[in-house]
Amino acid sequence: MKTGIIGLGAMGFPIAMNLHQAGHLVCAWNRTHATAETLAAHCDNLEIASNPAALAARCELILISVSADADLRQVIDALLPALTPGTIIVDTSTVSSATVRDVAHQVVAQGAQFLDAPVSGGVEGAKNAALAMMVGGDATALEKIRTTLQVIAQRIVHMGPSGSGQATKAVNQIMAAGINQAVTEALAFAQAMQLPLDKVIEVVSSGAAGNWFLNHRGPSMVRDSYAPGFKVALHHKDLAICKRMADDVGMSLPVVEMTLMHYEKLIETGYGDEDISALFRLKKP
Ligand code: NAP
Repeated sequence: MKTGIIGLGAMGFPIAMNLHQAGHLVCAWNRTHATAETLAAHCDNLEIASNPAALAARCELILISVSADADLRQVIDALLPALTPGTIIVDTSTVSSATVRDVAHQVVAQGAQFLDAPVSGGVEGAKNAALAMMVGGDATALEKIRTTLQVIAQRIVHMGPSGSGQATKAVNQIMAAGINQAVTEALAFAQAMQLPLDKVIEVVSSGAAGNWFLNHRGPSMVRDSYAPGFKVALHHKDLAICKRMADDVGMSLPVVEMTLMHYEKLIETGYGDEDISALFRLKKP
């Protein structure tokens, strides 16, 4: 299936590489042109579109990976005039359910389809084609493109109507906040106990408290290295979405509220572009 990608950031770039290697990627566009040129240097015969509409004219399937709600809206506005019936747009960004319901409505009005398909698994998941993808929108449209999506995702689950992929991603982000709090606090405690941190990570990760974040971010955070990964500013954006969704149903999310405050402190002190494991900075003795 002729596939194009918009957004070549930490996630979009490796997703594009995997689509290219499987022979699906025909076209790419990135706001910062130089990144698209870098991708083209790795991919034979890849066309770099001059704008999103030019990409739409070349593709049956359009993947989007941009930062936040306003960015998705800008990209959709640029795509709309060029959409043709049958085109399927899959947005893998993390944005609010309300935004995707709005843009899905606009896209469907042009005769095309829109699926919200946020992903989990981090940059490693994107590189290793091992993402978990939670999809909202038309189930038939998903089945048409499932084989292509399997090139980037290990697990693809249809969650329900438009917006339900993003609601599921919000569940994931709330859990990720709790895990970050638990892992950084526990490793700070281990440091205060003057334990050998690599050995702590080794033994704890093979027991009941073991988890992905400890395995992938523990070894770097105890060396004061916080290269993204998943940026503090992006998780902050996601948790603000979770809080608004919880407020709407009269629910409180104490771990999310605490993490939002911690991330705001990190952002104010210039660490917003670091990996979320930079929370360790606030916890270590
Ligand atoms: P990133 O590295 O900051 O990349 C963001 C991408 O979006 C860049 O290509 C950027 O273009 C583009 N962009 C931003 N605003 C735009 C706009 N207004 N118009 C057009 N393009 C725009 O972010 P990322 O880590 O790849 O994350 C992308 C999305 O995936 C986010 O929604 C994030 O929450 C989600 N996500 C991230 C992870 C992770 O571990 N990183 C995991 C799961 C989901 P430029 O190059 O021009 O800046």
